[in-house]
Amino acid sequence: MTAAPEKNRTDGAVLPALRCPACTLVIYPRTASICPRCSMKELETYGAAADGRIWTYTVQRFPPKSPPYSPAGEFAPFVVAYVETGDGIRIEGILSGVDAANVHIGMEVSLESCTDVPRYVPARGGTS
Ligand SMILES: [Zn+2]
Repeated sequence: MTAAPEKNRTDGAVLPALRCPACTLVIYPRTASICPRCSMKELETYGAAADGRIWTYTVQRFPPKSPPYSPAGEFAPFVVAYVETGDGIRIEGILSGVDAANVHIGMEVSLESCTDVPRYVPARGGTS
């Protein structure tokens, strides 16, 4: 993953993904060597939309056993969300900057960083 989300699109940050030129499926992270939908073997690099809406979420209330979700310091509960982006992919990440009681499905979020795991914050001007 990149150290920070790329900002070369006018509609927000992008993530380094792959796209199938035959069926347009977007694949993130870049783990596939063939398209899982149509078996096309030549995938192209693609800057996938990083921002989106919360598809679902949960609150992690105990320390995870292993990285990348295990915290560096003292544990505090945090929100783990699946964010559905404008490219139709769902990205698991940590949501911060909002109390867990105020998180809801459909909430607009923006990618803040992607150094270890994707980290999201509520979108400015979004529905929060
Ligand atoms: Zn395909």
